[in-house]
Amino acid sequence: MRDSYDYLVVGAGLSGLVLAERLRSIGRSCLVVERRNHIGGNCHDRKDRNGLFFHVYGPHYFRTNSELVRTYLSRFTEWNDAKYRVNVFAGGTYWSFPINLGTFRQFSRNPAATEDDFKAYLARSAVPIASPANSKEAILAAVGVELYEFFYKGYTQKQWGRPAEALDASVTRRIPIHTGLDERYFRDEFQALPKNGYHPMFEAILEASKADLRLETDYREVLPLVRYRHLIYSGPLDEYFDCRYGALPYRTARYALEELAEDQVPAGGFVQPVLQVNYPGPEPFTRTVELKHVTGQVSRCSNLVREFPAEYRPGESDPNYPVPGSESDALAARYRELAEREPGVTFIGRLAQYRYLNMDQVVGAALHMFDKLRERQP
Ligand code: FAD
Ligand code: UDP
Repeated sequence: MRDSYDYLVVGAGLSGLVLAERLRSIGRSCLVVERRNHIGGNCHDRKDRNGLFFHVYGPHYFRTNSELVRTYLSRFTEWNDAKYRVNVFAGGTYWSFPINLGTFRQFSRNPAATEDDFKAYLARSAVPIASPANSKEAILAAVGVELYEFFYKGYTQKQWGRPAEALDASVTRRIPIHTGLDERYFRDEFQALPKNGYHPMFEAILEASKADLRLETDYREVLPLVRYRHLIYSGPLDEYFDCRYGALPYRTARYALEELAEDQVPAGGFVQPVLQVNYPGPEPFTRTVELKHVTGQVSRCSNLVREFPAEYRPGESDPNYPVPGSESDALAARYRELAEREPGVTFIGRLAQYRYLNMDQVVGAALHMFDKLRERQP
């Protein structure tokens, strides 16, 4: 570590590393400081003892419609096309999901039901709500009470620790609803995973950035030790301001890895029918992910990561999800106002903007922010 840099970058996740790499391209020096013992933030992946990939902080399915983001990341990785397939397990049965004609055929116990039958059902069942004000209303307006209660109500309560009424409509709207047989979880044009996993992609970005890196270090520890011209902050928004208006809510989760030996895996090579299975019922976990379905790895072994949601407590866990909704909107807006007025600091990423952003949105925002920084500090 030197004693002076152009930029001090807080967080070695996508936001921090992409900006560090871009700043290097115009000759700027960066010190990247990361609290965890690895780079990659929440996208971090590893191999288990059988050499099979797993996502340490929950499943990360890369997808994008942005040519800019795809081209940028493709400088650091090759890709494996991925078909992200999700089922719901409830009442002892696997259900086709997101809701589509196949789900309706199962639900109505009529394998011959047509798209028109499903549309007629939706026309009868959907609750007429012109502008849904929250996540419950968004789904009631799309599919009605029956399907909402079966697929969304319990899952949402478990995932967020609060009812769907308390969450912004955008949360449940993330998932499409199809009237045909389309079972895609996402509609984006490009859906793929880095060929050798996320970690080598992050290593390549870090290498190109030529940044110095300090792991297992809170940025506050280095403040007395280095000089810098500008701070780039991708940690939690409220924490930067010592939670002076009160703590923003975050949701977190525990991710339990099960490494499965050959004799624990059925002959077909998989323990569940698709990549991800969601559990809206009384189980304490929300989903199980068998990544081998999309990595292209061939093995008689497998693994599962089971996700147990929990409320975030500082010092005990990592904040994973901002909680968009009535409880946090006003408070987050007050912190964003403070952030806008904070001299010499740029706030980027999912935690510092307190927005439920996907990876491609975060990369797009970092590229955009680079253009702004370059204009401001030529
Ligand atoms: P982060 O990855 O959170 O990085 C911020 C880093 O800052 C962290 O590593 C943190 O340790 C560090 N930090 C914080 N405070 C300090 C401090 N004081 N000092 C030093 N370091 C600090 N996106 C998708 O596109 N597809 C998906 O399928 C998907 N699934 C997801 C599933 C889960 C369970 C979660 C939690 C997120 C998912 N995402 C997904 C979103 C994705 O993780 C984020 O968009 C992306 O990781 C955000 O990058 P970031 O750099 O902004 O934040
Ligand atoms: N959701 C649900 N049932 C499901 C899947 C999702 O109710 O089987 C709701 C839930 O509120 C969830 C939101 O839809 O938080 C968005 O789902 P997504 O799979 O995008 O969640 P993420 O991967 O971001 O955790």
